[in-house]
Amino acid sequence: MDLKINTNVHFGDVAESYLFSDVAKKVKAHAALHPDDRIIRLGIGDVTLPLAPTVVAAMERAVREMGKKETFRGYAPEYGYDFLREAISRRYADAGVDVPSSEIYASDGAKCDCGNIVDIFGDNEILIPDPVYPVYLDSNVMAGRRVTLLPTGRGTDFLPTPDGLSGEGYIIYLCSPGNPTGAAFGRDALGAWIDFASRTGSLIIYDSAYEAFVTDGSPRSVYEIEGARECAVEICSLSKSAGFTGTRCGWCVIPHTVSAGGVPLYRLWERRQATKFNGVPYVVQRGAEAALSPEGRAESMENVRYYAKNAETIAGLLRDRGIYFTGAKNSPYVWMECPHGMGSWEFFDLLLSRAAVVGTPGAGFGKCGEGYFRLTGFGSAEATAEAVSRLAEIL
Ligand code: PLP
Repeated sequence: MDLKINTNVHFGDVAESYLFSDVAKKVKAHAALHPDDRIIRLGIGDVTLPLAPTVVAAMERAVREMGKKETFRGYAPEYGYDFLREAISRRYADAGVDVPSSEIYASDGAKCDCGNIVDIFGDNEILIPDPVYPVYLDSNVMAGRRVTLLPTGRGTDFLPTPDGLSGEGYIIYLCSPGNPTGAAFGRDALGAWIDFASRTGSLIIYDSAYEAFVTDGSPRSVYEIEGARECAVEICSLSKSAGFTGTRCGWCVIPHTVSAGGVPLYRLWERRQATKFNGVPYVVQRGAEAALSPEGRAESMENVRYYAKNAETIAGLLRDRGIYFTGAKNSPYVWMECPHGMGSWEFFDLLLSRAAVVGTPGAGFGKCGEGYFRLTGFGSAEATAEAVSRLAEIL
């Protein structure tokens, strides 16, 4: 039966995403034709190592509390328990950044926050870098917002700049270190965006989901830059820093100093969350608190270093062959130029057929990703080393 209701017409404007299903189809077809090939997947965007022992122990304790009448807890506070908000605030303080716990809103991950924050804005011009993590674009298109893509490329090592922008009142999505490019803003480049936002009354939505991978002194938080407390919100996650992709915990920072039209943004976010969100599970929040403790951080950082080392193994080969790439240094991602001017999918097919290695075609992340390719360090060290020796044969 066809109903007489109207659906959200903007869903028709969202580009279908065939990227990962097309990749899966091609891999399946290859496996059927070559059953003896040991296929290595370097396209993974998910962590593969287990939670840190400190995190597991904290969650076990919390589960036992939930099983006793005296310590049972019902609905969690919408913005997170104080113990977690304070642990996140301490994590910022340890990095020399002052973010009071009252400005931190716990969530079930960065993807939800990136999508949900659209609710609190009206009609604005939205600036989104290309190539990009697709959630920023799709969630704005679904809401019928006006999106302008900021093309990036080799000239700026895939980092967007405000050069040439003349309008005002933009909402600007920035991600550093970026997915898929792995490129991280240095202090000056991020400072240029904060200056631009301050001058033009624009808001920056800063996704720092990969901050734990920064090793070269680049900012790990937008609040390391002066002026950001007036014009930036930050969305972060324990997914990549502590292996929480399946456990789900992140947070959003909305400084009380950011307002628009006289309305502080945090009030709108609090209203939104109190209406549509019922909090992160207690057990998960205890796990997250443990992940942010000194022991939890030390244990999780071993995993981060493991992934980073894999990325560096891939980068080493590219450097050796003189192939341009970004990432690896501050990221689990290596974003490489396809050799000999090949297209993203052409290179995908070549890698799969000649080396049985799977990566992700850059064209799937935006027009400017055509001709580029994403490999990740999230596999095992052994598989990564094997993939690199196979790649060495064909690059
Ligand atoms: N932001 C970026 C840039 C990502 O690449 C991802 C996941 O891959 C996320 C956010 C999602 O994080 P979460 O697992 O916290 O939802």
